Amino acid sequence: MFADLHLHTRFSDGTYSPEELASEAARHGLRAISLTDHDTVEGVPHMVDACGRRGIEFIPGCELTAQARNGAELHILAYHFNSAHPRFLSELQRYQEVRQERIRQMVARLNELGVGLTADAVFAIAGCRAPGRPHIARALVQAGFCTSPDEAFDRYLKMNRPAWVPKAKMSAADAIALIHEAGGLAVMAHPGLNRSDDVIGQLAADGLDGIECYHSRHTPADSDRYRAIAAQHDLLVTGGSDCHGMNKGRPLIGGVMIPYELVEKLNQRARVPRPAPGIPPLPTPG
Ligand code: AMP
Ligand code: ZN
Ligand code: FE
Ligand code: FE
Repeated sequence: MFADLHLHTRFSDGTYSPEELASEAARHGLRAISLTDHDTVEGVPHMVDACGRRGIEFIPGCELTAQARNGAELHILAYHFNSAHPRFLSELQRYQEVRQERIRQMVARLNELGVGLTADAVFAIAGCRAPGRPHIARALVQAGFCTSPDEAFDRYLKMNRPAWVPKAKMSAADAIALIHEAGGLAVMAHPGLNRSDDVIGQLAADGLDGIECYHSRHTPADSDRYRAIAAQHDLLVTGGSDCHGMNKGRPLIGGVMIPYELVEKLNQRARVPRPAPGIPPLPTPG
């Protein structure tokens, strides 16, 4: 029995609908999945239904963009939180507005470069509240300015390319605290992509609950190294494909399937009541 705990839909920058995603999960025989769209939980109720009808266990999730103390960008996955938590939702809304404003700024840069794209064209393609660079890339391809999304990133959208604009983000400590306040678990996403091993100790001190050791872009050596680091800090081990549907060539779902036992450990830790800040944990009985 296997699971995939990192998946996107078109509620952020994926291309699958919740129904298509659940159907792909069923096709790969997945027992449990999570939806981890960027800065939104709008897909969660749809996934509850779509997974429920297929007998797939669904874990509410979300992927937040955060910044480590050394300035590096990190992605933090939230699991098992209350997806109706008022402050969690108001923070998501704030970062959705940050994303929309960033699209306008990046389109303005493109216009300065002579690329006649409008922000409304990007928003129409995105069709969601949490638009991102992949939507600009798709708009550039659709309007004939680039031949592929990869070319759009390479020419314009990658960090330090001419249309790139930095994204405002919360600190990793604030992201972890927010997830905990909403009753959830905070897991560092794909550490191998950010080359950020040296910040894990600080994140663990800030209350991090787990590390995504298995990911489509991790090598087997990466996974081994992050499992060892997780054990060292008593952190949960998770993993997922980070499938965005068809927007990155072949869909990645099915390529990273973690043993269901890791989901059981995540579920168990989620049920542990979390002490209020400042109150020391009760001693373990026995
Ligand atoms: P954003 O959240 O707007 O900064 O966009 C980040 C998204 O863009 C992530 O989901 C990545 O999968 C995607 N992305 C980042 N860099 C590239 C790249 N070089 N080529 C294609 N997609 C990328
Ligand atoms: Zn994404
Ligand atoms: Fe990510
Ligand atoms: Fe992701």
